[in-house]
Amino acid sequence: MTVKRNAVTGASIFLDREIIPRQYRVHLEDDVMREKICDICGHGVNPEDVVIHRIIPEEVARQAGIFDFRAATLCPDCSNEIHSWYGKRVYSMSYKNGAKRFILRSPAQMVKEYEATYRAFVEYKKRRRAKSQHLDR
Ligand SMILES: [Zn+2]
Repeated sequence: MTVKRNAVTGASIFLDREIIPRQYRVHLEDDVMREKICDICGHGVNPEDVVIHRIIPEEVARQAGIFDFRAATLCPDCSNEIHSWYGKRVYSMSYKNGAKRFILRSPAQMVKEYEATYRAFVEYKKRRRAKSQHLDR
């Protein structure tokens, strides 16, 4: 039996079903009613307003041929913001210096683009949060 691994998450894929690492699992059933905390800004969110944000959009993961269920629990504000970041910062084309033209990124490159953009967004929000906490004091 060979154990394949998801190239991005490192999760093992068993019989083509990915064993999702614990930290990426989204627990919906056990605490539906409790207030959630936004993974990015740390604010409390009503359960009905929570947005489950797929870090790699389903379509992109499918095109790249990977199982990638990493998701974040977000408040509506962070959800809107990350979507606009994805819209502005994830490019499907890259400039090839040698060829002096734009070429279409591969699905695997797109996965990296989304990951990098998500990480940059988290860092950005963290910095803003630290700054506003500083001002509150
Ligand atoms: Zn938030």
